[in-house]
Amino acid sequence: MNDLPVLTHWIDGAPGTGSSARSAPVYNPATGRVQRLVSLASAADVDTAVASAQAAYPAWRDASLAKRQGVMFNFRELLNARKGELADILTSEHGKVTSDALGEIARGLEVVEFALGLPHLAKGEFSENVSTGVDVYTLRQPLGVVGIISPFNFPAMVPLWFFPIAIAAGNCVVLKPSEKDPSAANWLAALMTEAGLPDGVLNVVHGDKEAVDALLVHPDVQAISFVGSTPIAKYIYETAAQHGKRVQALGGAKNHMLVLPDADLDLAADAAVNAGFGSAGERCMAISVIVAVEPVADELIAKIADRVKRLTVGDGMRGCDMGPLITQAHRDKVAGYIDIAQKDGAEVVIDGRGIEVDGDASGFWLGPTLFDKVSLDSAVYKDEIFGPVLSVLRVASYTDGVAVINASRYGNGTAIFTNDGGAARRFQHEVQVGMVGINVPIPVPVAYHSFGGWKDSLFGDAKAYGPAGINFYTREKAVTARWLDPSHGGINLGFPQNT
Ligand code: NAD
Repeated sequence: MNDLPVLTHWIDGAPGTGSSARSAPVYNPATGRVQRLVSLASAADVDTAVASAQAAYPAWRDASLAKRQGVMFNFRELLNARKGELADILTSEHGKVTSDALGEIARGLEVVEFALGLPHLAKGEFSENVSTGVDVYTLRQPLGVVGIISPFNFPAMVPLWFFPIAIAAGNCVVLKPSEKDPSAANWLAALMTEAGLPDGVLNVVHGDKEAVDALLVHPDVQAISFVGSTPIAKYIYETAAQHGKRVQALGGAKNHMLVLPDADLDLAADAAVNAGFGSAGERCMAISVIVAVEPVADELIAKIADRVKRLTVGDGMRGCDMGPLITQAHRDKVAGYIDIAQKDGAEVVIDGRGIEVDGDASGFWLGPTLFDKVSLDSAVYKDEIFGPVLSVLRVASYTDGVAVINASRYGNGTAIFTNDGGAARRFQHEVQVGMVGINVPIPVPVAYHSFGGWKDSLFGDAKAYGPAGINFYTREKAVTARWLDPSHGGINLGFPQNT
């Protein structure tokens, strides 16, 4: 391992080695081989990154909107021109297929384009003459240094949900990406430098819990944006809030797709396969449970199974439909749910173990897996599996289906498939979930709305990007002003009243 390249932090506009001797392996999941090591930051390394951001902050905060917007515009152009390079990085470290990697980048680019509108979006408000000769207006100002902690499954898109808005708003950033696929973060930071971003405005520290904990308690970090699993999101929310920070912490998910008897079953089957097995099910908006309202289950399952059998699995660079899972340990954990399903009495319609792959035998492979008649008590239903595993639950009515969805601890995304507008309208009103699709299986809001779930899928009250992102990364200041003409207000110790 000693002769492997080592990915280091990105501090002050350049690679920085840091003081920690700890590192972690970064695999190519399609070959199972370690392709590089990544440095794992110590608390002292986090300090260095925060100090760099803090030093850059006064000048960046005071840079004109035109200057900040100019950098973001250059970044947008560079990213668009060179997205193929980034897609290759994503495929080689995450495993997702090239088309999916390009899709992830496209959704990140949308947020960059949204952030270009910051001069308009962060405008304050003005009320003239609230009292005689007195005006009130509000300003939106940046927070200072903000921390972003991101998960493995979207190594480019999730950082892009946050840092373009944070930076356009005048903040400086320390990004701690997932240590499992860390290279995309350095690539993005180097591109921001190329786009003209001053050194220190965007820093990347790699690491694990030690680096995260250092960010959560750092006195110079004003806010934390986190995306990851639910237990860690809860921990992040509580710890950062206890240390006085503004926090948004997006957690895990178990997304249900309700299929009513009047649905177009071919459309529903296509949607279930795309949303269940895209990115090998490693998406927070993946559909992992089909709630089939009888009598559609048999026909729907047959259509899904027919499509699943035609999916190709292999190295993401080779034009397959689905790539490997992120690590061997995760692959084994997900495969373990097939035994659990059998033990708990579910029917294994398709078993993804032993699938033929177009790739290296040592890759972290698991084929698409389909369960029927899954019980609500089974860990297969209750756990976020985060792999290419789709479970079907059969229910007798729309009401039973909604009750199942609303009883879930998660509330990230959900979808209904129906041709009945009244049922769809009732569903959007009744369902206890933050993002709802109507005949759309992965309802990720566009960049000018905001992204986030309910219940254990989001801790804090701030969603990501869109108007919520602008609010999160700025704080409002209200100014009450009187310009004396000609001169004196007189003494009055009573509470100010408007006259
Ligand atoms: P994870 O929670 O294991 O890791 C997320 C981040 O937290 C990483 O940067 C990691 O280094 C750090 N981390 C891990 N353990 C930690 C600990 N004990 N203390 C402090 N920091 C720690 O998540 P993951 O496996 O990288 O990503 C998959 C998860 O993310 C899934 O649960 C998925 O649903 C969720 N996710 C949610 C959304 C959303 O928008 N709600 C989006 C993408 C992913």
